[in-house]
Amino acid sequence: MSTVEPEGDASKAKCQQLLRVLGDYIDGEIDPEMCELFERHMAQCLRCQVVVDTLRKTIALYREGELVLEIPVEIREQIHKQLRKRWQEKFGSQS
Ligand SMILES: [Zn+2]
Repeated sequence: MSTVEPEGDASKAKCQQLLRVLGDYIDGEIDPEMCELFERHMAQCLRCQVVVDTLRKTIALYREGELVLEIPVEIREQIHKQLRKRWQEKFGSQS
């Protein structure tokens, strides 16, 4: 009995809520208050750490390749799609 974070639905709901603002978070356009909430949650949630890490790497690749400061909409959509897919693979589908 040493679970830090319960794997319940409430926890998962929080992850999904936070993932919805993830795009803004990556762009650095997130509300500072939300950002703090997100980082605090992430510090103790391995699931979100993995997802964000993957997303950051993906974006870094795009940026290295093209030196874009802004992520084009279609790429952003791709990322979101991948993210959703990964999410569903890992934690089961849930809309
Ligand atoms: Zn989480």
